[in-house]
Amino acid sequence: MVIVLEQTATDEQIQNVIRHLEEYGFEVHSSKGVQSLVLGAIGVKPDFDTRKIKVLQGVADVYRVTAPFKLASRNFHPENTKIKIKDVEIGGDKIVMIAGPCSIESDEQVFKLAETVAKSGAKILRGGAFKPRTSPYSFQGLGEEGLKYIRAAADEFGLLVITEVMQISQIDLIAKYADIFQVGARNMQNFSLLKEIGATDKPVMLKRGLSATIEEWLMSAEYILAGGNSNVFLCERGIRTFEKYTRNTFDLSAIPIVHKKSHLPVFADPSHATGIRDQVPPMARAAVAAGADGLMIEIHYDPEHALSDGPQALLPEEYIRLYDELKLIAKAVGKSF
Ligand code: PEP
Ligand code: MN
Repeated sequence: MVIVLEQTATDEQIQNVIRHLEEYGFEVHSSKGVQSLVLGAIGVKPDFDTRKIKVLQGVADVYRVTAPFKLASRNFHPENTKIKIKDVEIGGDKIVMIAGPCSIESDEQVFKLAETVAKSGAKILRGGAFKPRTSPYSFQGLGEEGLKYIRAAADEFGLLVITEVMQISQIDLIAKYADIFQVGARNMQNFSLLKEIGATDKPVMLKRGLSATIEEWLMSAEYILAGGNSNVFLCERGIRTFEKYTRNTFDLSAIPIVHKKSHLPVFADPSHATGIRDQVPPMARAAVAAGADGLMIEIHYDPEHALSDGPQALLPEEYIRLYDELKLIAKAVGKSF
């Protein structure tokens, strides 16, 4: 931690800051900057609240040098995390495609879309059975019935299943049907849920919260890792900004930042990030070019009648065309699907 003192800081104030730092267990070094004194506080304390120093008289600013997350950090674990689920490897040389409907609507719907997903060469089928909807009057998902449909459809075509778990009471039920838990944007900081998922060994895709910083997102991953579940990967799904032409703002830069700060794989979800069908392919292409380890794309054969997120769903033929383009881009950045 680096502490910059006010130019006007008195000796007494400086000594007070040093005394506090030492009491908190830091080793303190001081050096004279161009205009003011700078203190270096040595000691790894990931949970130290820098405001404790910031509020002291004579302190101009405090900068944290080490990240508050440890298990999620690349310093702690320099190699990329690879998660093996049957014949799929997440975080390896190959980019992994997840596709399927927003919501599981019927046996027939998820079966037809699973066929498209398998035909495209993707290995993971998505579909929500428990839906986090903004309105309580919107379709809330088919629950266990939906889980049965998606499992049967995936098994028919040799696919893995990812589906969202919204609350602790759903964990055991969903674990029976799914290969991967999805923690949605709205639950990224549901710490009780994260802890319970951390106590399982099921792979989990943690989406970024609507207004979460990358650091907060990695701290949420830390909860799952700290619980003992190391099979965590992340998914950038757009963040809320002042921009209105898109549903969210796709934070493409999160991909290289996560790769730098963390060893965890990072996926991109251009469907929720943009919310509008014609913006999904360009953002998917950009995500592959930026080094995403995988993509999640919503598809539907009748988006006008979809029970959720129809406007952002690609038609099967659009999705297949996009997937072919993505393969070319992957090659250009030394990867493949
Ligand atoms: C979803 O993937 O269906 C979903 C609800 O996503 P998010 O949590 O990113 O909004
Ligand atoms: Mn959706």
